[in-house]
Amino acid sequence: MKKTLILTLFAISVVLLFGFLTGLLADDDKIESLKKEVEKLRGLKFKKDVPVKNMKKKEFREFLIKLMHEDGITKEKARDIARIGVKFGFYPESFDLYNATLNLISGAVQGFYDFKSKQIFMISDAELPANLPKAMAQVEIDSTILHELNHALDDQLFNIADYLRKDPDDRKADRAMAVMAILEGSALDAQLTWVLGQPSHLIPGLGKMICDGQKKRPAISAVPEAMQIELLWRYEGGIDFVHRLLKKGGQKELEKALKDPPVSTEQVLHIDEKYYKEDEPIEIKIDEKKLGELLPEWEFVQKDNLGELFTDFFLKQYVDEKKATEASEGWDGDLYAAFKEKGEKKKGMILIWLTVWDSEKDRNEFFNAYKQAVMQKCEIKSEAEGDSVTLKNDKGIFHVERKGHYVLCIDGFPDKLLDTIKKQVWSNVKEKSEDKGEKESDKKEENEKKDEGEKEDEGGEDEK
Ligand SMILES: [Zn+2]
Repeated sequence: MKKTLILTLFAISVVLLFGFLTGLLADDDKIESLKKEVEKLRGLKFKKDVPVKNMKKKEFREFLIKLMHEDGITKEKARDIARIGVKFGFYPESFDLYNATLNLISGAVQGFYDFKSKQIFMISDAELPANLPKAMAQVEIDSTILHELNHALDDQLFNIADYLRKDPDDRKADRAMAVMAILEGSALDAQLTWVLGQPSHLIPGLGKMICDGQKKRPAISAVPEAMQIELLWRYEGGIDFVHRLLKKGGQKELEKALKDPPVSTEQVLHIDEKYYKEDEPIEIKIDEKKLGELLPEWEFVQKDNLGELFTDFFLKQYVDEKKATEASEGWDGDLYAAFKEKGEKKKGMILIWLTVWDSEKDRNEFFNAYKQAVMQKCEIKSEAEGDSVTLKNDKGIFHVERKGHYVLCIDGFPDKLLDTIKKQVWSNVKEKSEDKGEKESDKKEENEKKDEGEKEDEGGEDEK
């Protein structure tokens, strides 16, 4: 029940190419022939039928609302999440995240594969860009269906979308983003290869070119940059990742990766150093129940992570780009937990953000960049040095401290609660060598579970 809107978007897969022509949908014969095209492109076969249905824009908006509510995203919840986003500098003050999300998705999407019902929906009255000839519009529609069929194929053969179907409490935003990236990379590559008539990985810079074009569309340029990245990075980062796989070992390498998908945006961003070397993030624990008992005036809102991608974006808003990138590299895990002040008109929010880093050097780079970022954000002047620093003025209060490989950042706390919060958070932190050991055994367990799952799946197929 506690998840960001970011994740609501992950339950659907958005296709973002140009425009769409009213009433010109493909018939059954066309869909059959597109399925064959996907099978040819991928060298794989569908296991099941994929229904393709039409949906009007208005129905699509209602569908999105239903999807959001299933994930516990009510208007009130969205307001709380927006306040967390404001703390990270992702949204302006009093941002209407609920409607902005609905407008963005319903305005930008032409078709989608619903991972829950396993059907494709095409938006039959989506707008057509001015002056697009009819024949080109038909290519748009066909290639959109082909893209969505590719999602259905990956879903049928690799169980990769299972992570997106998990209960919201059991998903992390960063890992979901990584899963979405390989799924969108796979579908976009197939789509572009089909449209261009040659392997899309042979054309450098395609992902960036397409996403730069998308950013100019009114529905997309209307939202804050953080939301644009949420929506577009899975295509841009995803196709770069998939192109690297294809260059290394063709479709077989892509299939291997779909069976063993990246678990963090860090792995998508650094394929050789992090994905192939299996650098998996450290699971961080923040005990919101214990904290809640210690903070009776405050109500838990949610916890999640940012990953390297959004840690980088957070820093970039306040420190120069090179420094932000340096500081976010070496990320090894993070988790934030937010509490809001109880009471109708109360505006307080405490944001506790615990991060862990590959090395002490990486830790120090982030520690220094975070200090600089919040000083810049709230125009705080301070010469404070040391491993534990509180920065404040009338615009904000921040505490940041480093210990071992970790950096703890706390934003918006009442002075008298600082020690209580710190003590509770650090009491759950184990230094890294122990964590790494745990990670290995977790992974082993997870693989065992996966094997069992696969066996069950096969059993199910046999019965049919
Ligand atoms: Zn897609």
